[in-house]
Amino acid sequence: MARDDWETVAPFPETLAEIREANGETYRYCYQCGKCDTVCPWNRVRRFSMRRIVREASLGLTEIESEDVWRCTTCGTCPQECPRGVQQVELGVALRRIASKYDVFPAAARPARAVRASLTLEGNPLNEERARRGDWARELGVRPFEEGMEILYFVGCYYSYDRRLRRAAVATARILQRAGVRFGILGEREGCCGESVRKTGAEQLFRDLARANIKTWIDAGVQRIVVSSPHCFHTFRNEYPEFRVNFEVVHLSQFLRELLRDGRLKLVRPVSRRVAYHDPCYLGRHNGVFDEPREVLRAVPGLELLELPDARERSLCCGGGGGRIWMDTPRGERFSDLRLDQARDVGAEALATACPYCITMFEDSRLTREGEGLPAVVELAEIVAEAL
Ligand code: SF4
Ligand code: SF4
Repeated sequence: MARDDWETVAPFPETLAEIREANGETYRYCYQCGKCDTVCPWNRVRRFSMRRIVREASLGLTEIESEDVWRCTTCGTCPQECPRGVQQVELGVALRRIASKYDVFPAAARPARAVRASLTLEGNPLNEERARRGDWARELGVRPFEEGMEILYFVGCYYSYDRRLRRAAVATARILQRAGVRFGILGEREGCCGESVRKTGAEQLFRDLARANIKTWIDAGVQRIVVSSPHCFHTFRNEYPEFRVNFEVVHLSQFLRELLRDGRLKLVRPVSRRVAYHDPCYLGRHNGVFDEPREVLRAVPGLELLELPDARERSLCCGGGGGRIWMDTPRGERFSDLRLDQARDVGAEALATACPYCITMFEDSRLTREGEGLPAVVELAEIVAEAL
């Protein structure tokens, strides 16, 4: 059947047009093999079918009000495995753009809509004041960024405001200072990177956030940017070039490896712990950064690095990407619970990672499962700072 014939039988031909417009059109290559469902982490905890979403979209039959439209964490596993090159993440985002356009949000997705106001007003999704973005660094002697500095440390929303993650930002500042890096932060001039809200379908808001950051960087004379969050890393590296700019962006794990290799950073204090490393989706699978964090952890004296099942390209998503960090996932359906079980089962005393969403999801899991002997959760920078 020709595609035009499909469109005439579809009850919502405008849906097809909108999916096309939102770059979700690769659904037409799908031959319904079901591989995406086999590899999707959702099917370890409950039933969810990306194959069905692709099929329904191809017929213009998407139920836009369905919670399933909001389930995908954009972990990137199924696009990696699809034999037909279907871009499921782009399709899912296209559907959310349509849902956003018509303001159709099932109850579970409403928190993802609510963050938009905070992002618009304060430049962060956490309902925090823009003016307080640099507060975490106040007592540390961290300087505001000036032209000519070696790097801009782009801190990110969670590391700036979240009480748990601020500890990692402080650790990062201490490491950079100890290594003699000339760096600065933008404080209230920094705004959310926009990566995750874009995945919820808020395209215009993403563009506004990106343009504001780019303008600030140009005005401030920024050349090289170090980021802690893989989500900032991903969008600065792969999406901001849509605005015809090209800043050098490195993830903290890459920068730490560079400092270690150049002999600027020395780790001397033993950290005698068995540590399993979790690959964040947006650092590993989406951007191929697998070796740098491991190399950094191996440089910590006394640390025994363990590998988890589902590592590197096959890493198990924490459940926080694609805007899911703002939505509630019921107990029994949290991928982060499975990951902590895996870490405990390989004998890890700590589960280390380098992403604010992974840390948040894992810490939440630990909190709800107190007394189960689960490993501690640590950010890469925290372990490195311990070894200074
Ligand atoms: S893996 Fe690809 S081809 Fe197979 S059902 Fe999923 S989207 Fe279709
Ligand atoms: S990108 Fe990940 S979460 Fe989304 S459907 Fe594919 S495997 Fe599932």
